[in-house]
This record gives sequence, structure tokens and C-alpha cells, in this order.
Amino acid sequence: MRRSPQGMSTAFRAGRRRCIKIVAAAPAAASLMALVLCASAAAAELVRETDPAAMKLKYKADATTAPEREDPTSFCNNCTYYTGKDGSCAALGNRLVAAKGWCTAWEGY
Ligand code: SF4
Repeated sequence: MRRSPQGMSTAFRAGRRRCIKIVAAAPAAASLMALVLCASAAAAELVRETDPAAMKLKYKADATTAPEREDPTSFCNNCTYYTGKDGSCAALGNRLVAAKGWCTAWEGY
């Protein structure tokens, strides 16, 4: 086994270097993981079309699939009840809706 002048073997130094890289990368990986989890949590929190309140308003996450929709330019993201800041809808209890969604309560500015 080769030893450095400091008495550390080459294998030990390589292992230590690898460990330092892993430890250094861990916060970035944890942040990325948190970001992915937040994104999927946000997606999970979107109001479902099957939600009773959403069904009353005939909400569709994809506006183009709403048969009652007459104005092709109407979407949640240009509705009076939509909060662009977080994507919530005042008509649905400030829960999150799809930006390209639509419901019968749509009201333009
Ligand atoms: S009220 Fe407006 S923002 Fe809310 S679901 Fe209906 S169209 Fe979308």
C-alpha cells in the first residue's frame, strides 16, 4: 500500500475526497429534493374537478374541455376570482386552480 508523506494511504485519501464531495453536495441535493417535493405537493393541492364545490361550478382544469365555455379567451388566470400570486381562486375557497382552467363562475376584469 502506497503511503503519502503524511502517512495516509492513497485509497484513504481518495475515499476521504469522495466523502467530502458527497457532504458538500448534500445540501444542494436536499434543496433540489425539497423543491421537487414542494412542486408535487402544490400539484396535489390543485382543486379536483370531482370536488363537490368545483362540480357545482362545472370547473375544468383544462378550459378547452368545458362545454359551457363560450369565450375561448376565458381562463382561470384572467378571471376576477383568480389570484395570480399563488394561483388560488376566491370562488373555490382560495384553493389552487389550474391557470388554464375554467368554471361557470368565470368573470373577466
Ligand atoms: S371562478 Fe374563475 S378562477 Fe375560479 S375556477 Fe372559476 S374561472 Fe377559475
